Amino acid sequence: MDRTLPEHAPLTQFPIQDDCLVIGEIPLTRLVQRVGGTPFYAYGRQQITERVVLLRRSLPAGVLLHYAMKANPMPAVVQHLAGLVDGIDVASIGEMKIALDTPISPGSVSFAGPGKKEHELRCAIAAGVLLNVESPREMRLIAKLGESLGIRPQVAIRINPDFELKSSGMKMGGGPKPFGVDAESLPDLLKEVGRLDLELIGFHIFSGSQNLNVSALQEAHEKTVQLAIRLAAYASSAIKLINIGGGFGIPYFPGERPLNLPAIGEHLEHLSILLKQHLPTARIALELGRYIVGEAGIYVCRILERKLSRGQIFLITDGGLHHHLAASGNFGQVIRKNYPVIIGNKVRGDTREVVSVVGPLCTPLDVLADQLPIAKAGEGDLVVVLQSGAYGFTASPQSFLNHPLPIEVLV
Ligand SMILES: *Cc1c(COP(=O)(O)O)cnc(C)c1O
Repeated sequence: MDRTLPEHAPLTQFPIQDDCLVIGEIPLTRLVQRVGGTPFYAYGRQQITERVVLLRRSLPAGVLLHYAMKANPMPAVVQHLAGLVDGIDVASIGEMKIALDTPISPGSVSFAGPGKKEHELRCAIAAGVLLNVESPREMRLIAKLGESLGIRPQVAIRINPDFELKSSGMKMGGGPKPFGVDAESLPDLLKEVGRLDLELIGFHIFSGSQNLNVSALQEAHEKTVQLAIRLAAYASSAIKLINIGGGFGIPYFPGERPLNLPAIGEHLEHLSILLKQHLPTARIALELGRYIVGEAGIYVCRILERKLSRGQIFLITDGGLHHHLAASGNFGQVIRKNYPVIIGNKVRGDTREVVSVVGPLCTPLDVLADQLPIAKAGEGDLVVVLQSGAYGFTASPQSFLNHPLPIEVLV
């Protein structure tokens, strides 16, 4: 193997026992028996808790920590997180139901996303959740529905900022966007909010996802807080919440390393002090998805066949892109790179070799690893895709080719 090639970040979140990955204190080979077969997703309760503890330790005490549920909406995961975070951010009525089934108070649930339908808004107003308003039309509709229900809706205006989050995997703000209200339209909109029967709680500004660049995140946080301070001057009531979005990245690909969280925390401490001077009633909320659950989850499938084609080894598995679109490289990646993939029951192995791991779908897109150095494995061995706790199961086209659905477990 060429030593100069970048490698995946070391596996530190799960213990290894007798060369077998352990999750939830259960060796993987045993967990497969417990689940009853492959493929499946497993999420580590302890790993999720530890991540929240790390965040709490690194972030200023006054910053609220929310979970953005679209990263992993498995009800058991959300229930577990409900006891650990200050709020849950949902992006659909289905997610709202899961959040409201937890003990979290409805006022700590916020509902964002373009194109919210009238009946969804009505349910959300009745539930008493905070609505992140994505357009002037939506704002007027919320006011009208609130009036008809006899409830004063709580709203936060989602702002499409006048800056971008640099080095982000997916940009969610800056330039023309379907999300939120352009920052320059806010003064007029806020005047209108004052005339409507709405309780303005604050602002919501989310600029991008999967970011490992500390200075880019710091710059975006700073510009976000400054923008909120500037726009709060146009609001007719005191701003209580500034939701600065999520977007903290995790290392997926060779060469990537974990985010320097303490540096982000220290910078947010500065910003909290600045915010207190200008808007004493306002608190900062972070809504993280991927960073909280991404590294806590694995996807497990079994090798069905070891096949040689013109000198290349293919491990054909019972899992693939229909369950894990992101690992196949088809979820927003421009150039396909390998996720960290290991043989779960032979983590180090006796010998190593370069293989491609593919799924059972009749398409060349169904690749879980392309020319990856891995422990030598064959029929019956377990392939594990790490970093699979976020944007995995529910972000995949499960009906494509109609194979059975994967199971999900929280262990
Ligand atoms: C997806 C999303 C998030 C979470 O983003 P991550 O990159 O997973 O942290 C946060 N806020 C909103 C509005 C989102 O749509």
